[in-house]
Amino acid sequence: MLKESQWIWMDGKMVPWKDANVHVLTHSLHYGMAVFEGIRAYSGPEGTSIFRLAEHTRRLVNSGKVMLMKSPYSEEELMDATCRVVRENNLSSCYIRPLMYVGYGDMGIYARQNPICVSISAWEWGTYLGEEGLSKGIRAKISSFSRFGVNTFLNRAKVSAHYVNSQLAKWEVKMAGYDEAILLDQDGFVAEGPGENIFIVSGGVLRTPALKTVLDGITRNAVQTLAKEMGIPVWEGVLTRDDLYLADEAFFTGTAAELTPIREIDERTIGTGRPGPVTLALQKAFFDVVHGHVKDHSEWRYPVAGR
Ligand code: PMP
Repeated sequence: MLKESQWIWMDGKMVPWKDANVHVLTHSLHYGMAVFEGIRAYSGPEGTSIFRLAEHTRRLVNSGKVMLMKSPYSEEELMDATCRVVRENNLSSCYIRPLMYVGYGDMGIYARQNPICVSISAWEWGTYLGEEGLSKGIRAKISSFSRFGVNTFLNRAKVSAHYVNSQLAKWEVKMAGYDEAILLDQDGFVAEGPGENIFIVSGGVLRTPALKTVLDGITRNAVQTLAKEMGIPVWEGVLTRDDLYLADEAFFTGTAAELTPIREIDERTIGTGRPGPVTLALQKAFFDVVHGHVKDHSEWRYPVAGR
């Protein structure tokens, strides 16, 4: 169960957690047209900071833009509200969920006059794929469900309806006893996880699917940046499922999953079956940066006290 906080920001007001309700005819609830973000705040020696808040807020507003949902709030207003939610709930390390949705008004799929509403919630949330998953790696399986194509939905946007596809994939493999799904695209090439980007290491090179059908992950970008700084060659392109099976190392990245090693895919052991040296080095670099244990990339740590 979710760990309740005290307040949720709803269209400019701090509303008690239990009263943060919407009408059952709220449009997005019926047709899936809502956009959202997943963001994490981390505590560290410099206090609590939100990882890449500006980039997440930009992606939220851009998700709205491509879905023809104009944000009623500026990026600055949304960032201020996000910090306020973390502060007023007295949270340090937490998960933050901004949601922009089509509110109550008309029904039917063309309800252009309905209000666009925004809520921002935050709560304490530990590891997404488990502590053991983070340290030892998880078992993944390729789902029989494909990631949607570029002309089915809009892959740059983080839209609620997209996560029906993610849930189909995830439920399928979880019910079969695996930890996480991998989705292939409609041509059978590797795409991503239901809520994560995927990387492999082969021949010393860090490889990930190019930005075609996958979400432009903010953690993906951070890990690629850190890898380049560490002198690890970074490559984007087309990956097949046997590229995964033959990889020396593999891992997922995402705000929720952070950097989770993958130790097995479809019953094939990846590398030695333990997180490999590149995975471990990148995981350490990532956690050092998000917590502010190193001075580098302070631009990625947005203090909740404001800038
Ligand atoms: N792909 C999908 C489908 C996701 O839902 C997420 C999580 N937002 C990611 C990738 C990773 O993105 P990020 O690193 O920005 O959280």
